[in-house]
Amino acid sequence: MSQPDYVVDTMISAKAIAARIETLAREIQDRFRDTDKLVVVGLLRGSFVFIADLVRELDLPVEVDFLEASSYGDSMESSREVRILKDLRGEIAGRDVLVVEDIVDTGFTLSHVLKLLQSREPKRLETIALLDKPSRREVDIKASWTGFEIPDEFVVGYGIDYGQRNRNLPFIGNVRFTEEGPA
Ligand code: 5GP
Ligand code: MG
Ligand code: MG
Repeated sequence: MSQPDYVVDTMISAKAIAARIETLAREIQDRFRDTDKLVVVGLLRGSFVFIADLVRELDLPVEVDFLEASSYGDSMESSREVRILKDLRGEIAGRDVLVVEDIVDTGFTLSHVLKLLQSREPKRLETIALLDKPSRREVDIKASWTGFEIPDEFVVGYGIDYGQRNRNLPFIGNVRFTEEGPA
């Protein structure tokens, strides 16, 4: 896939992300302090770095599972149709579940995933999103915990891609086109 030239400007530093995750982890630990097992569900692929850092701050009996829902594909446009490409390996009925999302944008992805998981009757179902773009919301939904609210800018890094690139950046940055803009 050919992409226009762009640079990535730092929006949230690796240090700021780490500090925020420590705080969030303490709150999550508090909420689930009495759990016999917390199933932490990462939404692939954008949450893979976030979930890795988050679970290492949780002093709880944790299991990790993943679910992949299609949303953006490789474009910068949101799609209203959400499909499950990869389902959980484990059962969540009667379990404590924390869904980990990279970004809540229009809200379609998270609301679809939550409906699906709720239908499996978990004991508790909470959500955490690293980033939230409230100005883009089309479905009335908010994660139980949010790392950072950000403006309507296209971001990459810390697991989040642009056309599968930039997931390995240790910080969150916004994409700035140096030529025409996206095709
Ligand atoms: P929603 O269904 O809430 O519109 O979309 C959520 C998903 O869209 C996020 O999990 C993420 O994968 C993708 N997304 C939303 N905003 C951005 C962005 O700024 N950059 C990238 N790379 N993906 C985004
Ligand atoms: Mg996502
Ligand atoms: Mg993507």
